[in-house]
Amino acid sequence: MKIAQVGEEILRTPARQVELAEFGQASLTSFIDELLATMLEANGIGIAAPQVFDPRAIMIIASRPNPRYPDAPDMQPLVLINPVIQQTSENTVWEWEGCLSVPGLRGCIERPNAVDVVYLDPEGKAQNIKLEGFVARIFLHEFDHLVGKTWLDHISSTENIMANDVWMAKFA
Ligand code: ZN
Repeated sequence: MKIAQVGEEILRTPARQVELAEFGQASLTSFIDELLATMLEANGIGIAAPQVFDPRAIMIIASRPNPRYPDAPDMQPLVLINPVIQQTSENTVWEWEGCLSVPGLRGCIERPNAVDVVYLDPEGKAQNIKLEGFVARIFLHEFDHLVGKTWLDHISSTENIMANDVWMAKFA
């Protein structure tokens, strides 16, 4: 699927909730498969539906080491539908992140170190999970996409922006 780039209206549009009637339908499961394939092909470690021009509140977080994130922890892809943040930790962490929708750049962003989330899985079953560290960061980054934001909205200083190639040379 085509990935929306910053400036596209869909990236500024809050996602809509997936309705109960949509669960169990091939249109939802095949979309999730395509979303995952798109993310893997782009060497992403997370993706949200608005990034492929779909308005639904669906995200995948799938941390794993890859050329764009050599130090990312390894995990099974996790699909979260209609996620809601229950709580975030008081302690925060500054870390560099990139975005498939903001090509060529990395930004150093302050985010909570942990987050408690409730969500629906692809079968429509309610789940809850506590995410920490880099995986919490991926979740919060993707959650931004569901409310019409990107990491650019968190930038407090232009010193916290770096070209991807420069970042790779320094840190990867
Ligand atoms: Zn992103």
